Amino acid sequence: MERTYLMVKPDGVQRNLAGEIISRFEKRGFKIIGLKMFKITRDLAEKHYGEHVGKPFFEPLVDFITSGPVVAMVIEGKNAISAAREMMGATDPLKAAPGTIRNSFGIDMGRNVIHGSDSPASAAREIGLFFKEEELVVYNRDLDRWIYE
Ligand code: UDP
Repeated sequence: MERTYLMVKPDGVQRNLAGEIISRFEKRGFKIIGLKMFKITRDLAEKHYGEHVGKPFFEPLVDFITSGPVVAMVIEGKNAISAAREMMGATDPLKAAPGTIRNSFGIDMGRNVIHGSDSPASAAREIGLFFKEEELVVYNRDLDRWIYE
């Protein structure tokens, strides 16, 4: 089982899409093991998007991600990282496959409603950045036998 970090960005929260987006991951069968709403500080945003420092979109991106509350979650399941990236769609919503979250709810690159870790290393890093160990809830679901063979 794999864990990944997902975050409904401030545009998604403002547009009342948090429930719908969470629901897609629940319905697919992923287990939510962490969930919270908060405002990202500038310091945390700069750490989170550290790989983009110096790029032209870096400052607008940090301004945007700190502009309002986000809804963050950690989900667990088989191939969670790549499956969630597939459900999100391409970074540019206009290039995201039909039916993906970014295709369904976005148009502009800087308003693409969701973040999701792109590798096991970034998942571990981002979960650690945004969640304390005690905020992750370990529990069993009877339902799992209907999701996994
Ligand atoms: N972004 C942008 N313009 C760009 C590239 C990226 O505004 O030319 C934003 C976009 O919101 C994206 C975020 O920066 O989600 C992080 O970029 P990354 O390449 O890591 O894409 P992601 O992993 O979010 O698909």
